[in-house]
Amino acid sequence: MGAETTKPAPEALVDRFGRRINYLRISVTDRCDFRCVYCMEPNQRFFPGDQILSLAEVAQVAQTFVDLGVRKIRLTGGEPLVRRNILPLMRSIASLPGLGELVITTNGSQLEEMAQQIRAAGVKRINISLDSLQPERFRHITRKGNLGRVLRGIDAAVAARFERIKLNAVILKHRNHDEILDLVQLAVDKGINISFIEEMPVGQIAEHDRAESFYSSDCIRTDIQSRFELVPTTETTGGPARYFRIPGTETRVGFISPHSHTFCADCNRVRVTAEGRLLLCLGQEHSLDLRRILREHPGDQVKLDQAIRDAMQIKPEGHEFDLRADSVLVRHMNVTGG
Ligand code: SAM
Ligand code: SF4
Repeated sequence: MGAETTKPAPEALVDRFGRRINYLRISVTDRCDFRCVYCMEPNQRFFPGDQILSLAEVAQVAQTFVDLGVRKIRLTGGEPLVRRNILPLMRSIASLPGLGELVITTNGSQLEEMAQQIRAAGVKRINISLDSLQPERFRHITRKGNLGRVLRGIDAAVAARFERIKLNAVILKHRNHDEILDLVQLAVDKGINISFIEEMPVGQIAEHDRAESFYSSDCIRTDIQSRFELVPTTETTGGPARYFRIPGTETRVGFISPHSHTFCADCNRVRVTAEGRLLLCLGQEHSLDLRRILREHPGDQVKLDQAIRDAMQIKPEGHEFDLRADSVLVRHMNVTGG
C-alpha cells in the first residue's frame, strides 16, 4: 500500500473510534458455482439481476472510495470470476489513480482459464479458497466443486506470477481438521502462503451446528507445530490475520480468529455487498443503502461522498460473533463478501 501516509489525508475516512478506513471489499455478485456448507444453503436463492449493482455502479463506488482515501480494494463474492465482464471491471479499478492495490478472493474454479488475464488486468495478489485435498471430501464441502480444476487453477495462478498468492482454508472439526498438515505442506511445496479461518456465524445454515464444528486457531496452530516450526512475525497486511513464518520456506501461515482473538480495534475496512449495501462491520448490520443513492441521484457525486463520510459515524466498535443458533446474522457470506 505504497500511497499510504501516517497522517490521514484531508479526504480520509475516519470513524468515531479514530480508525482510518483505507480498505474496501466489494462483493461483485452473490452467485457462485459452489455451495460451500459453511457459506450457503444447497438451494440458496440469489438476487434478481436488477437488484445487484451494475458494473458501472461498482466502478463508480470504487472510484468514490479511492477519492476518499481507500488504498486497497478486494473483489470478492459469491464467486467474482463468474460475474460476466469482470475483467474490464478489474482493469478499470486497477488503473484508478491513488489505488495502491487491487486484489481478489476466488474459489479457484475459473483460474485455469483466467489467471493470466486477471494478472494482466492489474490484480496484484490473489486469495484462493481450499479446504480439502481429498476429491470426494472437497466435493462434499463445496457441494459442487471439482478439486482437480481448483488445483490446476492454483498452478495457473503460480505461473501467472501474482505478487502474492494465499490459500484460505476454513477448518471444521471432524470434517477437514485432519488435513491441516497436508494443506500447509501444499502451500510449502508451491511456495505460497496459507491462512486458516475460524468459521463465522454469518447466515443461517442447516447442514451442521457451527458451535459443534468449531475448531480454534490455537488448535490448528498446535497441529501445525507437530511438523513445522512457526516463527511469529510482526508483518501485517493491514488485516485481522496473525502471521508466522516457516523457516527455510517461502510460506507464511496466517490465522484469522474472529472467536478466539478479536481484531476489531485495528479494523481498517468496510464492505459493499452485492446489492450495494455499504456494510460497516462483517459481524453487525449497520449499513447504508448505496444503491438507492446511486439510482435516485445519478451523477450526484457530492451526495454519494457525503453519505459515505457520514456512514463512518455508524461503524460499530466491534463484531459480537456468537455461535449460538439464535444469534446468527441473517445475511449469508456470499452476499456479504467474505
Ligand atoms: N467465492 C470466493 C471464495 O470462496 O474464495 C469468494 C467469496 S467467499 C464468501 C470468501 C471467503 O469466505 C472464502 O475463503 C470462504 O472460505 C470464506 N467463508 C465463507 N463462509 C464463511 C463462514 N461462515 N465463516 C468463515 N469463512 C467463511
Ligand atoms: Fe461460493 Fe465462496 Fe461461498 Fe464457497 S465460500 S459457496 S466458493 S462464495
